[in-house]
Amino acid sequence: MKLHPTRAKKNEKSKKVGLKRALLNPSSEHGGLYAPVKLPKISDKKWRELSKLSYEKLALYIISLFKFNIDKNVFKKAVKRYKNFDKPASPVEFKKLGKNLYINELYHGPTRAFKDMALQPFGEILSSLAQEKNKNYLIMCATSGDTGPATLKTFANAKNIKVVCLYPANGTSEVQRLQMVCMKGDNLKTIGIKGDFDDAQRALKTLLASENFKAQLAKNKLSLSAANSVNFGRILFQIIYHAYAYARLLKNGKLARGESFDIIVPSGNFGNALGAYYAKKMGAKIGKIKIVSNANNILTELFNTGIYDLRGKKLLQTISPAMDILISSNIERLLFDKFGAVRTKELMDKLSKDKFYKLDKNELKALKAEFEADFCTDSKCESYIKEWMDKGVAIDPHTATCFKMADSSRINVITSTAHWVKFAPSMLKACQQSADSEKEGLNTLASKLNESAPSSIEELFDAKILHPDVIEQNEIEDKILEWIKK
Ligand SMILES: *Cc1c(COP(=O)(O)O)cnc(C)c1O
Repeated sequence: MKLHPTRAKKNEKSKKVGLKRALLNPSSEHGGLYAPVKLPKISDKKWRELSKLSYEKLALYIISLFKFNIDKNVFKKAVKRYKNFDKPASPVEFKKLGKNLYINELYHGPTRAFKDMALQPFGEILSSLAQEKNKNYLIMCATSGDTGPATLKTFANAKNIKVVCLYPANGTSEVQRLQMVCMKGDNLKTIGIKGDFDDAQRALKTLLASENFKAQLAKNKLSLSAANSVNFGRILFQIIYHAYAYARLLKNGKLARGESFDIIVPSGNFGNALGAYYAKKMGAKIGKIKIVSNANNILTELFNTGIYDLRGKKLLQTISPAMDILISSNIERLLFDKFGAVRTKELMDKLSKDKFYKLDKNELKALKAEFEADFCTDSKCESYIKEWMDKGVAIDPHTATCFKMADSSRINVITSTAHWVKFAPSMLKACQQSADSEKEGLNTLASKLNESAPSSIEELFDAKILHPDVIEQNEIEDKILEWIKK
């Protein structure tokens, strides 16, 4: 299967590419991305068979349907990375929380956030491709807190790969920051920037599109790619865990024949929710995909009014920093799927020129048929955290926003995106408690839950800081080139 550019001019013949090309070079013409035009469809009968498979086998089956131009042994090796997760037999833990309410825990990987679900196998594939081509790549990532650690981790000491990770200096939790600035690996560079996540993502997109930057890299025998969810290689692995949720419900007999269920996704860059949308297109019986935001509720507005509006908006810092986003990159793939490349280019051009776009009535209707959207304030979120902590269940501040949209009249699956250890101070505050230090807070929560904090997190508080740099946005390019030349 080929992937298509998401933006095109009228009557322009667009250049389709294979997955290999899209992985190594994720931006398409006119500043767009790559996306499939049609997804392989799985029959109801086949889904029932698939429900008996292990996570790894399910992943390999789903990937095989796309008939991508990458050898199946590469994918096989990639999904073996799930052996690094808490329970090697199943990287995902699917649990019942209450009446008609389930939780799909995706944070059992090495860096304790769902980003590992895609980035672990993605890292293996990219490194394989680089070795096969006998080329060296610089992988860039911009992070609001979880993509950074997961990207650094998956590529640490990988052959033919260097990584630069940009994070907003005051925009992540302390554990997230420490994960990045203490990560070991000679091929890694973490840089804090003065600004917010949108600034980091904008800097990344500018560098990816800069001919001058690419020429400088070429002099050092490096090609450029990105590990953000602008890369379709990540989206591919984000379809699978939603399919797995459906498979679990089928296997446990929770769904009557033909009955559908809803998925609730705490959303920022919309990669996770897009994975659910693609799983639905592949035939998983998903009813509504419910998009939850925090106070940065630009997606709530889009799905309810059809207007994507950046005018006068300022990014707010919340207790769910991974969702502190105004420019949600993967919405573009949804627009492309629903309305085509010409209309997508028109809308994205309008956004960049006028800072807003407006869908017409029918377009909005098409989105509303599959999505619902709402947002959850920090204080509401804290009340959910406390409510569940009182029951002995720790829910991180991103996942906690999902309770705003839970509805016990139908089966709802909450997509759980991070382990609470990454956000101990916010968790404690929600429980109306405090601690003298982050480490102490972590231990207070752990004993409240009768758990111990993972040693990989505890060790961070005494680890050596290897990447102290915090710089201005206009210094990024020089800083990277200086490091490359070393
Ligand atoms: C990245 C992230 C999100 C947002 O996911 P998107 O795919 O960007 O919408 C939500 N929660 C956590 C913990 C995250 O790390």
